[in-house]
Amino acid sequence: MRIREHVVLTIVMVALWLGRDELINLLAFSIGSILIDIDHPLDFFIIYHRPTFSITELSKLLEGRKNVFLPFHSMEVILSVLLYAVCTTNHFLGFMAVGMMFHFTVDIITNGYPTFLSIFLTYRLTKWRDMFRFKTQ
Ligand SMILES: [Zn+2]
Repeated sequence: MRIREHVVLTIVMVALWLGRDELINLLAFSIGSILIDIDHPLDFFIIYHRPTFSITELSKLLEGRKNVFLPFHSMEVILSVLLYAVCTTNHFLGFMAVGMMFHFTVDIITNGYPTFLSIFLTYRLTKWRDMFRFKTQ
């Protein structure tokens, strides 16, 4: 799903949720649901060794590759944030983790992942490690 569709979906969720929770929690949900896509410029940087925020370049990266790194789009990172939030009773982080999970679930449903295990970062790092090698120079 594209970022603008994630933004619209997040706004719809927040609108449905409005009045049922504190605004700060809705903000945390929105941050988690939208900013998780910072993964894409990060992926681009890892693969091409240069930064970009160009939607065109980032889209081409996704079209041309079957395997992606996307560290925040992973069960380990999202569940770690959620676990930390629960252990520290940090509501902001908890709602952020829920937003990240919401985004990730929508991505899995709409984009699909190559295999079930590829929703785990550790799987991607071990099975697809060749594409993540950094240049030494
Ligand atoms: Zn995404």
